[in-house]
Amino acid sequence: MSSEIQRLDLMIETSQKTIERALSADGAAEAEARLRAEAEKLEQHYENTVDLTRAAMNVADAFGEIFAPHTICKKGCNYCCHVDVRISREEAQIISEHTGVNYDDSQEALSKRHEHYGKPCSFLTEEGCSIYEARPLACRLHFSLLDTPTMCDTRIVDSHVKLTGLDTEWLWTTLRSKGAGSPVKDIRKFFPKPQKTG
Ligand code: SF4
Repeated sequence: MSSEIQRLDLMIETSQKTIERALSADGAAEAEARLRAEAEKLEQHYENTVDLTRAAMNVADAFGEIFAPHTICKKGCNYCCHVDVRISREEAQIISEHTGVNYDDSQEALSKRHEHYGKPCSFLTEEGCSIYEARPLACRLHFSLLDTPTMCDTRIVDSHVKLTGLDTEWLWTTLRSKGAGSPVKDIRKFFPKPQKTG
């Protein structure tokens, strides 16, 4: 077995252990019940797709309540703010309302994968994310399930691996089926210049 395959096997095993630990922790059942309750709200009628997207952010936060305490992800780490962060127009609208900054709504082809690799997000500051309450779904759902954050560090690895074994596709599928979640482009293209907020 090549060392690369061994390494991937180890990563998968570590990820699975993290998931098992999160799902069996004290309070996990209550957290899962909260997640289900928030997910059910997606089936309600929303006046517009921005409100629907806000509901999806609540789902993502409930999801995070289950897994975040069991990951290596910690305040102060911003490796994942240096990779592609694809967001929808609704998410751009939510950020715009939060910051008072207009977004670039021009249509363009989806940027190439890894186009922004190694470049900081427009909203990353020395203090961390300046739009934390309005941060996109991708940021709310990104967790390293490994026992080290180094696989997120764009200075060390040259291809961003799929770090999470968490299945979040259902959330995107639900949004798309209700007319939200597109078009998508990188957060740096919606908000091209470094943003100063707050
Ligand atoms: S929105 Fe915030 S959390 Fe997300 S990549 Fe940008 S700085 Fe990081």
